[in-house]
Amino acid sequence: MKKQFAVIGLGRFGVSVSTELHKLGHEVLAIDANETKVNEIVNDSTYSSVADGTDEKSLRSLGITNFDHVIVAIGDNLQSSILCTLLLKEMGIESVWVKAQNYYHHKVLDKIGADKIIHPEHDMGNRIAQHLVSEKVIDYIELSDDFSIVEIAAPRFMNKRTLIELDIRAKFGVTILGIKRGKNINISPMADEQILENDILIVIGHKNDLKRFEEST
Ligand code: ATP
Ligand code: ATP
Ligand code: CA
Repeated sequence: MKKQFAVIGLGRFGVSVSTELHKLGHEVLAIDANETKVNEIVNDSTYSSVADGTDEKSLRSLGITNFDHVIVAIGDNLQSSILCTLLLKEMGIESVWVKAQNYYHHKVLDKIGADKIIHPEHDMGNRIAQHLVSEKVIDYIELSDDFSIVEIAAPRFMNKRTLIELDIRAKFGVTILGIKRGKNINISPMADEQILENDILIVIGHKNDLKRFEEST
């Protein structure tokens, strides 16, 4: 289903979010105070406009209240980011996601009702570190301090064996959510599904259990 998004602030993060949403076929309104930035996004957004995200009148005249989701990606200017978020929540926008710069910024955003607070540099840094220490881990999503989802090349011992034979959940305490095989992905595989060489497993579990699983060969 087509959704409507507005992205305010077109730094690298805002541009990536807008471009990808647009590519996925959604309606995207891209806003920046800087005209050059707005001109650069014309082809990768549905609508684009030069406006100040801290000016309620401008936002209203763009029809911002009709958007289901607004992403605030105003970077270094914490004051503008906070004021913009506050205005959007006051105007009744259901879902406001904000890129945070640091811990204090995060705390304020939390207080004023931001629905999700994102730390792209921190999260990406974590992911890269996970890649670096384990050559098997392809991707990594942190669900909480204790639980994660990892994408990992199937360990060799699993080759040509079924999930039920391997008894993964009992032995490692982790659950296989999906199996990627070439371009196909099998979501919630059956117990009799056989693991093949070059399969990529999407696995959820406690970090300690995942580590044990990753290190098995
Ligand atoms: P990234 O690291 O993702 O590149 P950043 O966090 O370093 O981005 P900046 O480049 O500082 O972010 O800012 C993002 C954009 O936000 C800039 O293009 C800037 O013009 C825009 N911006 C700043 N203040 C406002 C405002 N009040 N209204 C609209 N846009 C704004
Ligand atoms: P991020 O978005 O991850 O916070 P950034 O891409 O916006 O980072 P900067 O904040 O400009 O990058 O720089 C990151 C760090 O690199 C800073 O601490 C800065 O002091 C340092 N740095 C920048 N240029 C140099 C340089 N030529 N030599 C050493 N350190 C540098
Ligand atoms: Ca930055």
